[in-house]
Amino acid sequence: MNEKKVFYITTTLPYVNANPHVGFASEIILADVRFRFARECGYEAVFNTGTDEHGSKIYEKALENKIDPKEYVDKYAKKFNSLKKTLNLSYTNFIRTTDSNHKEAAQEIWKRVEANGFIYKKHYQIRYCVGCELEKTDSELTQGKCPYHPNKELKLINEENYFFKFSKFSELLLEFYENNPTFVYPAKRFNEIKVLAQSGFQDFSISRLKEKMPWGVPVPNDSNQVMYVWFDALTNYISTLGWPDNYENFEKFWGSQQCPNAIQIAGKDNLRQQSAMWQAMLLAADLPMSKQIFINGFISVDGKKMSKSLGNVISSEEMVDRYGVDGTRYLLLTKSNFGEDCDISWDKMDEKYNADLANGLGNLSSRIITLADNVEYDLPNVDIEKSLKADIESFEMKIGLEKIWKMVDKANKLMEEKKPWSLKKKKDIFSEKEYLELMQRFLQDLHIIAILIKVFLPEASEKIINQIKFRKKEVLFKRIV
Ligand SMILES: [Zn+2]
Repeated sequence: MNEKKVFYITTTLPYVNANPHVGFASEIILADVRFRFARECGYEAVFNTGTDEHGSKIYEKALENKIDPKEYVDKYAKKFNSLKKTLNLSYTNFIRTTDSNHKEAAQEIWKRVEANGFIYKKHYQIRYCVGCELEKTDSELTQGKCPYHPNKELKLINEENYFFKFSKFSELLLEFYENNPTFVYPAKRFNEIKVLAQSGFQDFSISRLKEKMPWGVPVPNDSNQVMYVWFDALTNYISTLGWPDNYENFEKFWGSQQCPNAIQIAGKDNLRQQSAMWQAMLLAADLPMSKQIFINGFISVDGKKMSKSLGNVISSEEMVDRYGVDGTRYLLLTKSNFGEDCDISWDKMDEKYNADLANGLGNLSSRIITLADNVEYDLPNVDIEKSLKADIESFEMKIGLEKIWKMVDKANKLMEEKKPWSLKKKKDIFSEKEYLELMQRFLQDLHIIAILIKVFLPEASEKIINQIKFRKKEVLFKRIV
């Protein structure tokens, strides 16, 4: 039985060949809400994110910019780590795959997988998508191109490299999926990976010739090769916990085979890597597998895929400039149900921001604080865990917020209907009593709303509670005109 009250969540590590965009912001905000909720419920919790910094995509970019790869990745790591402040994130760990403890962990997992007989060397020739950093077989291509990177030419690789015996794990993983029916969420993504496993996984290359691509973790006992991205990068989820040296910490948060703790969130282009490749690596190294993988959908802008060439990339900074931190968090959390693709546009976001935040919660709280004077009320007793558990544990933050916003709407309607400002003017004993009771109710409702939004919109929550406490009005969400 799991009575340990510990919790671990990790995002994928973004590859540092571009600035952080809104897709990653959406993923990490979801993880942030889940983590804050665990902490709110009394769990000792770790929240991991970081940057994936090796591989040819980065090496080529650095060459292109005529700077040292290390200098290049340092710059990007800083940018990604600045999201912590921009988006008010609460992650505890920021791992970089160029950190020395990470590199040692990647070499250690390699050695264990090799000792167990799951690594071999062969000469091969493949087509390779540098965008995905994956080999592409015919069945995975659309009109000869990678469906995720139709603008990138596939690379032909012809060399001798090390391979991971992924094919040996197709059946084991299928069996594991059957025994763990909620391992991947949502179900349609789980079905996709099951179908892939049924058709059989193929071994994948996990190294490159150092003379062609030196920007990687050295392969143990072979100075001519460096590890190739996935084998190195995926290890971060445990190297961040201090594995293998700090075994106690690793066991505590990553768990044991019987009782895994670690939850992962990833985009749908990462389904195979997280729910199959990484799990097979763990199996091959005799390490416990993840507990659950949550697969997020994609965001398009005005019906088009976000891309630099189309010039329609939305960054989290731009959103925060326009909507504030909590406005951005709210819009990204409510854009779709978990796992669904969705389309955003500035117009639609402006509209929703004004309706739900400026006119919705913002207006409600401002009216209540203005009218409440010195009205005393009983502090509400809210069980956050009970109220939000089902929605947050399934990452349906949108549904949780919709429930809270029903309370906002209801209170706003009651305000319109009862017009407490006119009661206040009347000065007769009945109106005074009604006014007092009404304001007590409004203050309580607002206080409950502030408590419930804490894990989603931490700043707004705190501001509202302070405003109630000191009866001092402050604009929460500036209207966009
Ligand atoms: Zn691709």
